Amino acid sequence: MQPDWLSLDQQHVWHPFTQAQTAAAVRPIARAEGAYLYTSDGQTILDAISSWWVTLHGHAHPHIAQAIALQANTLEQVIFAGFSHEPAARLSAELCRLTGLQRVFFSDNGSSSVEVALKMALQYWQNQAQARPKILALAGGYHGDTFGAMAAGKASGFYGPFEDKLFEVNFLPCPHTWLQDPQQAKKEALALQWLDDYLAQHGPQTAAFICEPLVQGASGMRMYSPAFLDAVLARLKAYGILVIFDEVMTGFGRTGTLFAAEQLQHQPDLMCLSKGLTAGFLPMAVTLCTEDIYNAFLGADFSRAFAHGHSFTANPLGCAAALASLELSQQTHSQRQYIQQAQQALIPQWQNHPKLQHARLCGTIAAVDLCNFGAYGSQSSLQLREFFLDKGILLRPLGEVVYILPPLCITTAELERVYQAVLALFD
Ligand SMILES: *Cc1c(COP(=O)(O)O)cnc(C)c1O
Repeated sequence: MQPDWLSLDQQHVWHPFTQAQTAAAVRPIARAEGAYLYTSDGQTILDAISSWWVTLHGHAHPHIAQAIALQANTLEQVIFAGFSHEPAARLSAELCRLTGLQRVFFSDNGSSSVEVALKMALQYWQNQAQARPKILALAGGYHGDTFGAMAAGKASGFYGPFEDKLFEVNFLPCPHTWLQDPQQAKKEALALQWLDDYLAQHGPQTAAFICEPLVQGASGMRMYSPAFLDAVLARLKAYGILVIFDEVMTGFGRTGTLFAAEQLQHQPDLMCLSKGLTAGFLPMAVTLCTEDIYNAFLGADFSRAFAHGHSFTANPLGCAAALASLELSQQTHSQRQYIQQAQQALIPQWQNHPKLQHARLCGTIAAVDLCNFGAYGSQSSLQLREFFLDKGILLRPLGEVVYILPPLCITTAELERVYQAVLALFD
């Protein structure tokens, strides 16, 4: 039986990233627990993509639910200009300790955290009277759907109707790679050559570089090597260019380490976090930066200040959820490891299949491309989603890319089920 509210959804709700005319009917979700969603009409769905990459330890984790309830009864919200509260201060200190950065600016979604980082980088140079108007980004990155984020993610291909309204960004080619890729070294050398040419011409005018470190999510779980990124960062640092890591998706253990940055020699000057920050319970984001950047905004005059803020900046409920999630994260190292090991043991099934190619792994994330398949949003890709859902598995392929980005509570047996479901496409 369908619930009675479903007709209200059909009449009044506009769903994200959806062509309503051709989309399959939405599935009504009544509740969720651990790795599972439960529909109102009795279906059980294994959530293999962490509900768009946000659910971290599992749905409805009691430790986080409790922390939010406690906070809601104490302080639910307070203006964050001229006021502060304990959860925000403690969370900021903890995030700084974990990332090695020094200052935390709060917002409430990943796109906004990227806007904040780009604006900070641009004003950082202006405050020092240095003309650095250019932004460099890694091609194919996705940074969100607001205008600055769209400009930096232009090459991800989602923004046709707004193309002429986006500011100029230069794009470094991304040498994405996969298991047993014979061309990797060549692609990386070509990209570095492009970068050397760019820097020789525009390095001193470039304010910042932004990328998703190690894995580009929305453009198809495209992976590239830490050694390449380190080589890029070494070159950028020589020109004083600020480095922004958009770890909105990669943060909180997805790439194996708590942050992708931990796998690199060179460190970013700014970092964006959201999605897993509250373990998927509440919308919250942060932009972290160095003390040097923070100091560049100090002065007697308000015009040097960072004139940016959101109504729900540092919402106490979000901060309480994030603190509770970080407590759990202290113990997730072994979970990340067994997921990584399970994926390593399972992925040869994909690697050796004639209709699959470019199998790849990074930490807890696995991805593979279907040969000769339709683009994002195409009818064939929509049918793919329904195929998996009918098997009780939430996978949401990005065009021809099938990927697994599981909550950390997933078991090896459940992962096996997901790999089998993908192979069942060819039965
Ligand atoms: C999802 C995502 C964003 C945007 O976050 P929203 O909360 O959806 O605005 C930005 N960057 C990356 C890498 C993302 O995966």
